Amino acid sequence: MSIVYIVSAPSGSGKSTLVNELFKMVPRLDFSISYTTRPPRGSEKNGKEYFFVSREEFEAMVAADEFLEHAEVFGNEKVRGEYYGTARRFLREAEERGNDLVLDIDVQGASQVKEKMPEAVSIFILPPDRENLEWRLRNRGLDSEAVIRRRLDTARREIENYSKYDYILVNKVVEQSADELKNIVLAERLKNKSGAELSEEEKRSVETAHACRLEQARERVQPILASFAPQAVKST
Ligand code: 5GP
Repeated sequence: MSIVYIVSAPSGSGKSTLVNELFKMVPRLDFSISYTTRPPRGSEKNGKEYFFVSREEFEAMVAADEFLEHAEVFGNEKVRGEYYGTARRFLREAEERGNDLVLDIDVQGASQVKEKMPEAVSIFILPPDRENLEWRLRNRGLDSEAVIRRRLDTARREIENYSKYDYILVNKVVEQSADELKNIVLAERLKNKSGAELSEEEKRSVETAHACRLEQARERVQPILASFAPQAVKST
């Protein structure tokens, strides 16, 4: 059985970089390429970052029960949200190859997958605080002011869901967060081994992953949550 890793994060938290790093470091991992109705951005290519489809095509896939989960996600300039969905076939194909599968999906999708597959491993990536997220969103220069406002507002609501996840990463230093993500993935693969069977390196993975578990991270998360609370926001 493949292990399914769900990775969620507010837009601008550095999730794509961390997931890319993960794939460089860990073998036997597949990435689930989602379907979306939003238009491609920048250098995005159909079939690489996403499969870009029309609303009609997406709705036909929903009717044919082709999705493991799907959701309407805001974050585009349009008032109407865009559809995003994970095709079931990615899980089947990962299983056939004997690989594990990474899903980069939002909090709505994550809770749908967890309901269907409670054994899926969920990881939430947090920015160090609101100011840092705002800086990153502005710095990447992809979004208009209105979209940045919307993304920050969405981030606040998403972050409130952190406690539904198994692991929490606070993305302060990319190299460190990438190492933590790698060790979470490796430690989950070692679940069936007893402590005595683990090599020194495997023990380090298990310890690093343990420190990122929700129960260990709760205190670290409080100041981040506080920075997103409406009364803490100076500039809106
Ligand atoms: P973006 O448009 O910036 O690439 O992604 C916007 C949001 O949609 C991100 O939070 C991303 O994780 C989420 N997303 C991408 N693919 C899927 C999917 O298949 N299902 C769900 N529920 N969310 C997705």
